Amino acid sequence: MALAFDEYGRPFIILREQDQKTRLKGIDAQKANIAAGKAVARILRSSLGPKGMDKMLQGPDGDVTITNDGATILEQMDVDNQIAKLMVELSRSQDYEIGDGTTGVVVVAGALLEQAERQLDRGIHPIRIAEGYEMASRVAVEHLERISQKFEFDADNFESLVQTCMTTLSSKIVNRCKRSLAEIAVKAVLAVADLERKDVNLDLIKVEGKVGGKLEDTELIYGILVDKDMSHPQMPKQIADANIAILTCPFEPPKPKTKHKVDIDTVEKFETLRKQEQQYFDEMVQKCKDVGATLVICQWGFDDEANHLLMHRNLPAVRWVGGVELELIAIATGGRIVPRFQELTPEKLGKAGLVREKSFGTTKERMLYIEHCANSKAVTIFIRGGNKMMIEETKRSIHDALCVARNLIRSNSIVYGGGAAEIACSLAVDAAADKYPGVEQYAIRAFAEALDSVPMALAENSGLQPIETLSAVKSQQIKENIPFYGIDCNDVGTNDMREQNVFETLIGKQQQILLATQVVKMILKIDDVISPSEF
Ligand code: ADP
Ligand code: MG
Repeated sequence: MALAFDEYGRPFIILREQDQKTRLKGIDAQKANIAAGKAVARILRSSLGPKGMDKMLQGPDGDVTITNDGATILEQMDVDNQIAKLMVELSRSQDYEIGDGTTGVVVVAGALLEQAERQLDRGIHPIRIAEGYEMASRVAVEHLERISQKFEFDADNFESLVQTCMTTLSSKIVNRCKRSLAEIAVKAVLAVADLERKDVNLDLIKVEGKVGGKLEDTELIYGILVDKDMSHPQMPKQIADANIAILTCPFEPPKPKTKHKVDIDTVEKFETLRKQEQQYFDEMVQKCKDVGATLVICQWGFDDEANHLLMHRNLPAVRWVGGVELELIAIATGGRIVPRFQELTPEKLGKAGLVREKSFGTTKERMLYIEHCANSKAVTIFIRGGNKMMIEETKRSIHDALCVARNLIRSNSIVYGGGAAEIACSLAVDAAADKYPGVEQYAIRAFAEALDSVPMALAENSGLQPIETLSAVKSQQIKENIPFYGIDCNDVGTNDMREQNVFETLIGKQQQILLATQVVKMILKIDDVISPSEF
């Protein structure tokens, strides 16, 4: 697009290659954009809540993902409309910042767009709607703060953290095991957390998965897990207080280089060579033993003879460990990676309280657990499950739970879920609308109505009558002036979310409202769309 002027100084717009472009202006542009945004939200709406549906997505190379996580669904969907991509971004930013609430944020944004469309039809200018939404979102965020509750926890008493993580997990495929998974997530976060500084480094929590076993076998390991086994089946399976030599040099006699020529023409010569090799290797083993190593972890392999010797000399070893894992082991155990044999010294050894090898079921697969490491707080969550899809989805669900636990450590305020917080905000925003004399009040009321879409979707997904259920709960909240009543999705028999223990983090909810408002404002302010026309 270019702006030019004719000879009288009158401006006009030039669209280059006009016949290949489409242009939407004014209200048409807004309508088209809103339609695109709403389409995305409609897809996610059915996935919201504990009774939400899952989506199955097939990638270009045929791999299948089954998930309930909003961010993942949108990520895997091949969206090519630019506005729809904004919704994908929206979900992603919620995922980055908070980790949970990725479906809810898109549902709220979709509802805001839908309400905006109605206001546009009434002839209200988009800027007025955007301003009204901005005011309303401020009211809602403040109100959330007001109805939030703080709870106390410490390293020994973390039941409330577990409850909040359970709310997150209850809407996932893995909700069968939500109690145990929530406990694992909370323990993992507490293990790496710095409660003084309210800081959690989630990078220290590694999430690994292996197909097989069942979800209940998922465990938390205070240490790291390496997908390797001892090099010889007769080596000890368990080493307490291990001193680990971490080697990147080959554990074998130097091979003659191809440039040299070794003539072996008699049996004696061969014997000497063999002896020498053996002796060389013997010295290497001795060197390891001298510095006090009780376990050797090598990046390279060694041959069967060496293996045999190691076994005899009682020095357990692990071979072919990848570089990344080697680094992790070094960090966790406080050891140094040794690239040359001569440099091996006692202070370079890593220390671990327990190293054990564990085999799984009837398979030959074994894994090495390195636990109670000296230096680091690193922990590993080891997921088991029937198939790869299940493990992947469990990883994503655990990620959500970890994020929720981390958020609670940063700020221990919660609001009540099941749509209770949204209904309370909707009432507050509706009441605030009356104070604004301008046309913005229509937009503010529309915002209040849009917030109701979350409890509506929750009710709808649970097979309840959405409007009836919502109005019942709403009137209950008004009558008793208590913001804890939400949708009873699981048919427990009470609407009181305190009794049901359905909590969500305050910052998560606030972020949802802020992000959704931001994106909707952005979409509303676009009044000219110029794009290459489709063929
Ligand atoms: P998101 O990706 O946005 O987290 P979810 O599918 O996890 O979406 O659904 C979250 C919604 O489900 C929240 O509004 C939460 O309050 C609600 N929810 C979770 N568990 C329950 C429950 N047991 N009863 C009622 N509502 C619940
Ligand atoms: Mg969730």
